[in-house]
Amino acid sequence: MKVELVLDARAVIGECPLWDARQGVLWWVDIPAGLVHRFEPDTGADSAIQIGQDVGAVALRSVGGLVMALRSGFAFLDESSTVSCAAGLDQDDATLRLNDARCDPRGRLWAGTVRDDFASGVAALYRLDPDLRLHRMLDGVTISNGLDWSPDGSLFYYADSATAAVDAFDYDLERGSLGGRHRLLELPDELGMPDGLTVDADGFLWLAVFGGGQVRRHAPDGRLDAVIELPVRWVTSCGFGGPNLDQLYVTSGRERDPDAPLAGGLFCVEPGTRGRPQNAFGG
Ligand code: CA
Repeated sequence: MKVELVLDARAVIGECPLWDARQGVLWWVDIPAGLVHRFEPDTGADSAIQIGQDVGAVALRSVGGLVMALRSGFAFLDESSTVSCAAGLDQDDATLRLNDARCDPRGRLWAGTVRDDFASGVAALYRLDPDLRLHRMLDGVTISNGLDWSPDGSLFYYADSATAAVDAFDYDLERGSLGGRHRLLELPDELGMPDGLTVDADGFLWLAVFGGGQVRRHAPDGRLDAVIELPVRWVTSCGFGGPNLDQLYVTSGRERDPDAPLAGGLFCVEPGTRGRPQNAFGG
């Protein structure tokens, strides 16, 4: 598979490639730089909006614009780049911040935290409902990362990077609640950490391996199906984009290896399968 560098972005920690079919653009973030990027595949142009604090992830809003998972909580970014508060967190530890985030098929936003020192078990996973009420859904998390649902919404996939594994939860789509948890897959210790993930139209998972220079495709039973090798080591996340959702965009970071060529770049590969349209936040 041919991996193409589409933007030599030199991002500190590039993350959250999010296709926006409304505009035909790819949103992505640079977490510690506090930037929300807007990449236009047709022209190769990229612009960035400075948010002024860590941006863990962004998601589409059904009314237009984006919702952001920040250090201080959740905020909206409207189409004129105005930021407004959506919800704070239920804790006041300034060294805890929101990390990866994703909307479920009913427009609820799920996002988890991580502490700057990666302290074990102090982070949590939250659900922000369209009425902007925040619910703490899971405790004992260390590095909350990749999250997505099976195509029928009955399973929730979740990577706490510190576990070197991806777990699957039974998911009650009507109530937005988590049920039984089981281990779906584990990465080899020496390979790297599970980071961002996305589920494709066939129900297979694509998982970025941070430190491993790979994106791996796993079957719904956890079996390894395919491996894409990236030309950079610190691969952070992946998401399908393009008009046909057949292009897999991959983000990376240069924080751990500042001088490495292409580190922090945005990449694209056509893996022969398609993604699913992104769910939008209903609030
Ligand atoms: Ca991540």
